[in-house]
Amino acid sequence: MKASLLAFLQFFPGAAGTDEYLKMEATLSAFENCLQTADAKRLKGSSPMLMEFLTPIFHIFSDLIVKMTPSSSISPTGPSEDRSVYEQIRDLERQVALFEGKLQESQRCFDSIISSLASNIESTVSCVNDLKSSMEHNTDTLASLPATIAKPSYAQVASLPANVSNFTIAPPPSEKILLVRPLESKADSSTTRNKITSFLLNKNLPFRITRIKNINNDGIAICLTTDEDVNKLSQELSKNADFASFSVSKPTLRKPQFILFGVNSSYNKDSITKALLLKNDIFKDGGLEVNFSMKSKSSNNWVISVNPYLYPVIKDHGHLYLNFERVRMETFISVMQCSTCGSLGHTRNHCPNTQACIRCSSTDDHDRTSCNPRCINCTTQNARFRSGFPENHGCRDKNCPALIQFRKRTIDRTDYGR
Ligand SMILES: [Zn+2]
Ligand SMILES: [Zn+2]
Ligand SMILES: [Zn+2]
Repeated sequence: MKASLLAFLQFFPGAAGTDEYLKMEATLSAFENCLQTADAKRLKGSSPMLMEFLTPIFHIFSDLIVKMTPSSSISPTGPSEDRSVYEQIRDLERQVALFEGKLQESQRCFDSIISSLASNIESTVSCVNDLKSSMEHNTDTLASLPATIAKPSYAQVASLPANVSNFTIAPPPSEKILLVRPLESKADSSTTRNKITSFLLNKNLPFRITRIKNINNDGIAICLTTDEDVNKLSQELSKNADFASFSVSKPTLRKPQFILFGVNSSYNKDSITKALLLKNDIFKDGGLEVNFSMKSKSSNNWVISVNPYLYPVIKDHGHLYLNFERVRMETFISVMQCSTCGSLGHTRNHCPNTQACIRCSSTDDHDRTSCNPRCINCTTQNARFRSGFPENHGCRDKNCPALIQFRKRTIDRTDYGR
């Protein structure tokens, strides 16, 4: 635009280099600059602004036209020249009017573009705002979801379709165990373990073994995840000649036991069994075994074992009848401890050791009332498994960690029927 106006100015002799010319050029430059850099916002409703630029341009033009009239100082010298100048002026006037029209049209066009841009921006902004508020709403909904999921009301649960109750959660993996023990032991548990490990590696058997632990009688317990794997591994070992001298078995759970307190010492194993069966309906189908008695001051305490399914009923009932007496009773957890050497897991009848001090576990001849306590079971446990148990207590101490661990294992190996 600037270029065409400048070309137009060249029609005027003596115009280039005048103050007006320079002024106009500066105004045009500013206008062009403004068009290039202005943003939509600034130009919205820009009619006054455009007029601000255009008005001086028209003033300059009209000044120039006035200066070109015959009365001006730069008037032409003859009538023929006058006529031609007039014609030129009329031409110029027409061209100026044309330019004015075009400028106004451009301005309208420009204004409409700007306003359409502005309305686009407005609608985009409102669109963005809509999105933002919708996201905020979604965030709120998401935030409230865990509460909805975590705490369904009874009504919500009750209103669920019946087939939802078919949904099952996989039970946590429980250990299924296979025991392997040498029949005639000349080797320890680690030898048995190595033999099993190399067998499994060589055969490349696809069993999921979670761990292998040492057990008594130089055996090992192989922990698997399914009963099926236990059966398959048992078959694999049983048919392999290398394991002919090993017993392969599944551990059997112990029956739960009760101890009956203060039983008249006239009872023996037979008579107490008959009396219990006679007076307690719960044993009408059997399920009772009388194990052994322990002497107390004026009576005996008897230990019995019952079938696992009877345990919860008897436990909840809280007592049994012995003829016409109600007998006080408690759950009995057997801890087999040798009275000869103090070791856990065997009795004096099967003890391979010599008599030891129950305080310090020493077999030497010494004053057994003033020796420093040292527990044989915690010492052994620490040496074999680095258990870190304190050792400065007697082997019958009820707080002995080895004793507590042994009790826990007995409980774990007992089937309490629930
Ligand atoms: Zn012993
Ligand atoms: Zn001692
Ligand atoms: Zn101990």
